[in-house]
Amino acid sequence: MSKIIYPTTNFKATNTLTIERGEGAYVYDSNGNQYLEALAGLWCTSLGYNNRELVETASEQMSKLSFSHMFGGKTHQVGIDLAEKLSAMVPVENAKIFFGNSGSDANDTHIKMLRYYFNAIGKPEKFKIISRERSYHGVTIAAASLTGLPPNHTHFDLPFEALGVLRTDAPHYYRGALPGETETQFVDRITNNLEQLILKEGANTIAAFIAEPITGASGVIVPPAGYYEKVQAILNKHDILFWADEVITGFGRTGNDFGCTTMNIQKPDMMTLAKQLSSAYMPISASVIRGDMYEAMIEQSANVGVFGHGYTYSGHPVACAVALKTLEIYERDNIFGHAAEVGDYMQKRLREFADHPLVGEIRGKGMIGAIEMVANKQTGQAFNNGAVGAFAQQACQTHGMITRSVAGSSLAFCPPLIVTEAQIDEMIEKFGKALGDTLGFVQ
Ligand code: PLP
Repeated sequence: MSKIIYPTTNFKATNTLTIERGEGAYVYDSNGNQYLEALAGLWCTSLGYNNRELVETASEQMSKLSFSHMFGGKTHQVGIDLAEKLSAMVPVENAKIFFGNSGSDANDTHIKMLRYYFNAIGKPEKFKIISRERSYHGVTIAAASLTGLPPNHTHFDLPFEALGVLRTDAPHYYRGALPGETETQFVDRITNNLEQLILKEGANTIAAFIAEPITGASGVIVPPAGYYEKVQAILNKHDILFWADEVITGFGRTGNDFGCTTMNIQKPDMMTLAKQLSSAYMPISASVIRGDMYEAMIEQSANVGVFGHGYTYSGHPVACAVALKTLEIYERDNIFGHAAEVGDYMQKRLREFADHPLVGEIRGKGMIGAIEMVANKQTGQAFNNGAVGAFAQQACQTHGMITRSVAGSSLAFCPPLIVTEAQIDEMIEKFGKALGDTLGFVQ
């Protein structure tokens, strides 16, 4: 038995697959079998595998300065340059950036910065956070408490009560609508629920509302038109910050620079970035906040003597150098434009499965999508456990493609942004075979 405790894994039913190397949009196992990486690793390897520029950047930076921390204002040029570049890219006003190592720790940092900020401006009671059902924000104690998926809570005694996480509806029309309800009525109802929650708790106790513009791990939920406009109007009215978790949707994934652009979210106050920030060549994340929030914290840190939060690897120079190069490549090679074009093609091709007897709903935007398989196509009845999803995921692998079954029985598609239309065709063909096998399994 292996000595590894595998993350996010069924310990009893684990089929290990040893991945040995990667090239472009493909990975190869230890027997030399090739797989199309249709999930870009974990929604992250935007530039694919073995990108020589990133490899050489990492190697050069390692030779020059393999480590330097950022405590007490120690700094380095690649960190400064990365922060400048990111700050200019994001839609957050006068953005200030705290570097971390993962999406989860970046969300923890945000929770702490929110507390620090509201304490600084004399509103210590304003610390609760509204998060949605079926959201995914990571797995540390705090981030898992924001997450709205049962497997991340059950047996862990989470969410952690003292954090004050409030839960509101997922904007998931297919699963959440009442019989006969139109999309507009659905949006009106769930945004009204949001406002009622705010009124019940007291807006003066609520710091922020966190949302993935389009969700990933919960099955790629794309909210109906008008949802974010209504949400933002309510939040603005009650003086609650909008916190965009763009760990998956950031950097060209949804057909634009950020998910906020695609979903018409105006000026988020905070943003969480990771994954595609470095094309996953190095672990790095960014907690982005409005400049005036940072300014409010300056006096507070001076009072204490230090802003008492930082990771050993905050602003790791190799990670910063790789992230900076990644952003330069995005710009120079028009990667977002390419992803938008091929993403449209992928969405069109995914929808060719609409009539398949197992397919309940096809969702997505740009280069992220999901196909939800259902037990009853007419009623949309879900499968009552993850067995069908797990079978389909394995069938994809058998046909030479890696993807994941998420939130029960939705297969997710999120290939590297560099894929070609021919590779999308290959993905569709392999998925078609796997879906055929899955129908045989179900019947
Ligand atoms: N937020 C979102 C939206 C994510 O999708 C993820 C991971 O998939 C995270 C946060 C957590 O990131 P990490 O796994 O790097 O901790």
